[in-house]
Amino acid sequence: MSGVQLRYNYRITPDAVQRTALAQAFGCARVVYNDGLKLRQQAREAGEKYICDGDLSKLVITAAKATEPRAWLGEVSAVVLQQALADLNTAYRNFFTSISGKRQGRKIAPPRYRSRKDNRQAIRFTKNARFTVLDNGRLRLPKIGDVAVRWSRSLPSEPSSVTVIKDAAGRYFASFVVQTTLDETLPPVDSAIGIDLGLTHFAVMSDGTKVTAPKFWRRAARKLQRLQQALSRKQKGSNRRKKAVIKVARAHAQVADTRRDWQHQLSTAIIRDNQAVYVEDLCVVGLGRTRLAKSVHDAGWASFTGMLEYKAARYGRTFARVDRWFPSTRMCSDCGRISDKMALNVREWDCACGSHHDRDVNAAKNIKAAGQADFNDRGAQVRLGLVPAPRGEAVTHPGVACSPRSVEGISVLQGGEDVNSTADHARTDIWADVYSVSRETL
Ligand SMILES: [Zn+2]
Repeated sequence: MSGVQLRYNYRITPDAVQRTALAQAFGCARVVYNDGLKLRQQAREAGEKYICDGDLSKLVITAAKATEPRAWLGEVSAVVLQQALADLNTAYRNFFTSISGKRQGRKIAPPRYRSRKDNRQAIRFTKNARFTVLDNGRLRLPKIGDVAVRWSRSLPSEPSSVTVIKDAAGRYFASFVVQTTLDETLPPVDSAIGIDLGLTHFAVMSDGTKVTAPKFWRRAARKLQRLQQALSRKQKGSNRRKKAVIKVARAHAQVADTRRDWQHQLSTAIIRDNQAVYVEDLCVVGLGRTRLAKSVHDAGWASFTGMLEYKAARYGRTFARVDRWFPSTRMCSDCGRISDKMALNVREWDCACGSHHDRDVNAAKNIKAAGQADFNDRGAQVRLGLVPAPRGEAVTHPGVACSPRSVEGISVLQGGEDVNSTADHARTDIWADVYSVSRETL
C-alpha cells in the first residue's frame, strides 16, 4: 500500500491572549534560529568545524535557557524551539547539497537571519509537543491555549504535526501534516501529454489544446502595482504606511487564492485525463524566454507544475520534467530536422519534410517525445531529483512584495521530511507556491 503526506490548512482565530502568546513563541523560535545561525557563522569565520545539530541544540536552547538574557525561552514549548533549529539544519543541508552539486535545479542560498519584520511568522508543533484537536473542535497548543479553528473540511486521520502561521495580512493558519494510507491511484488511461509553457498562452499541449491565462492575472498585477506605488509614497514608520502594507498583503493574498483555484482545476483535469505528463524544466525554459514573459508567467508556472507533480504522485500517474536542452520550438516533431531561428511573431511554420506546424503545439510534441524517451531510459522510474526544494512552512521572509501564501487547502510534502525550510526560495518570486512530493511505500 502506498501513501502520501498531505498538508491540510485551516484558518484559526486566536483571541487576544493567544495572539500575545503566539507572538512570544514566534519571537523565541526566531531568536533560537538566529542564535544557531550566528554560532555556525562565527565558527566558520574562526576556521572551526561545523557545529553539529546536537551540540547546537545544547548551546542555543538548553544552555541558553540557564542564562539571564535568554531565560524567557523557557516560557514557550520546547518543541517549538527544537523545530526552529530543525529548520535551520535543513536549510544548511539543502545549501550544502546544492553547492556540492548533489541537488539539481535552482541554486540554494545559505540560510539567512529571520527578522521580526518578516511578513510571515511560523512555528511548528510535533506530536512530542502534545498538541491535540479537542472534541469541541478547538486546537490545543501547549503554552498557547485552545484556539478556535474554522474547519473547512475534516482531517482524514490524526496529524503528525501542526504549523501555526501568521501571514502578512495578519491572518492565522494551522497547517496539519497528515499521512494518508489511502490508495488513490486512478484507473490507468492510455494517453500521455507534453506541455509547452508558452509565451502567448499559459500552456499549450501536445494534443493541440491551448490554455490562456485568465485576464485577472494581469488585472491583479496592475492593481498590485498601484498599491505598491501608493505604499512607496508613505512615510516610513507612519500609521498610513502600516495600513498600506496590509492593503498590499491582502491584495496579494486574494490574487494568490483565485489563481490557485484556477490552477487546481486545470492540473486536476490534466492528471485525470493522462497517464503521463511531461513539461519543460523551468530552468531550461528560462534560457529561451524574454524577461517580460517570465515576469508574467514564471511564478504561475512553478506552482502549476508543482501541482501536476504532487497530483501525479498521489493518483499514480507519471510526471517528469524534461531537463535536456533542445530547440523544442525549431525542431520538427515529425522528422527531427532543426530549422532556422524563428522570430517571436512566427506562430506557424513549414518543415522541409512537408509538415506544417503550429509553433507551440510542435514544441509540446517535442517535449512529450523527449519525456517519453527519458522515461524509457530510466526504466519506468519517476525521478524526483528535479523537484524544486519545498518551500518550508516555517519560513519567514521580509519584503512587502512577498505573498502571504497560505490559505485553506491541501498540499503534499516531501516524504518523511516534515521539516523543510529553504528560506532562499521564499524570495525567488512573489507568488511561488512550490509543492514537493514523494510517493512512498508503507
Ligand atoms: Zn520535418
